[in-house]
Amino acid sequence: AMQGVAGGEERILVSVRVRPLNEKELWKNDLSEWECINDTTIMYRSNLSASERSLYPTTYSFDRVFRTDCPTRQVYEEAAKEVALSVLNGINSSIFAYGQTSSGKTYTMSGITEYAVADIFNYIEKHKEREFVLKFSAMEIYNESVRDLLSNDTTPLRLLDDPEKGTVVEKLTEETLRDWNHFTELISFCETQRQIGETSLNEVSSRSHQILRMTIESSAREFLGNYKSSALAASVNFVDLAGSERASQTNSAGTRLKEGCHINRSLLTLGTVIRKLSKGRNGHIPFRDSKLTRILQSSIGGNARTAIICTMSPARSYVEQTRNTLLFASCAK
Ligand code: ADP
Ligand code: MG
Repeated sequence: AMQGVAGGEERILVSVRVRPLNEKELWKNDLSEWECINDTTIMYRSNLSASERSLYPTTYSFDRVFRTDCPTRQVYEEAAKEVALSVLNGINSSIFAYGQTSSGKTYTMSGITEYAVADIFNYIEKHKEREFVLKFSAMEIYNESVRDLLSNDTTPLRLLDDPEKGTVVEKLTEETLRDWNHFTELISFCETQRQIGETSLNEVSSRSHQILRMTIESSAREFLGNYKSSALAASVNFVDLAGSERASQTNSAGTRLKEGCHINRSLLTLGTVIRKLSKGRNGHIPFRDSKLTRILQSSIGGNARTAIICTMSPARSYVEQTRNTLLFASCAK
């Protein structure tokens, strides 16, 4: 019950992935002013005004910075694999994609999820001395309402406090995974579920969080003289976050449009939780302030492992949003 208490020994693994300019950006000559100067540092090259200089650093360093030509396989290997596979040792974990809409969160997260699940299946194949049970569930949080992505029923799900398990999502479907094909079928079903009944998919997908959760239970087929290694259970969560743009946007007339009524509570609370966790073990961590952080409480902080991959566009027109993303990433280190 006390899993997820604030302040793990392990730092959060923080990386940044720069997506390539897309055709429209290339056509508009919306050129990049960001340069990855090595594997851990990204730099803003333009001349900054004095006032900008006082607000923003020009270089940012992380555990890893991935250039535009870097394949998802490498991003997975270097920024997510170890965290994801800790589930096989009975350690809960979460991997997040954070960034503005169109920066590459879904592209990155769906690739990472596939590589991780494939590695988990390979591991199981090689460890016949243990018996494994894989359970898969999928949910979406939109306007602080939780929905089961493995069910046709769109009724919002309630969160309950279980004295043993911590926060549980009531009535959430848990499929027992048979094999790789079963996994890909479930993933396609989730994708269709995300689209049903929504008038504007872009609007929903940019404001909703998707959590894919794999729970792995395993036990030794023979008693190994040590109960700790004989039974293990843990979850790994793959989290495709809502777009991080929220404060303001500039319309074609150059004036600011405020989105004030749609502040995303889960995203803001996650930011606060991560900042507090990265500062160490003291103080109150407000896990209970949002649905996302309640659901993930036992999988961030405490003994859990966490990786955050911040995605960004290199385009000049997004420079303000990109700086916000990099500042968030800097706070998470
Ligand atoms: P988000 O989920 O952050 O809104 P997407 O993952 O949907 O963004 O990416 C937006 C577009 O950019 C998609 O068409 C996607 O295929 C493409 N894209 C994103 N990242 C990359 C990348 N690293 N390499 C190539 N294409 C990418
Ligand atoms: Mg997306």
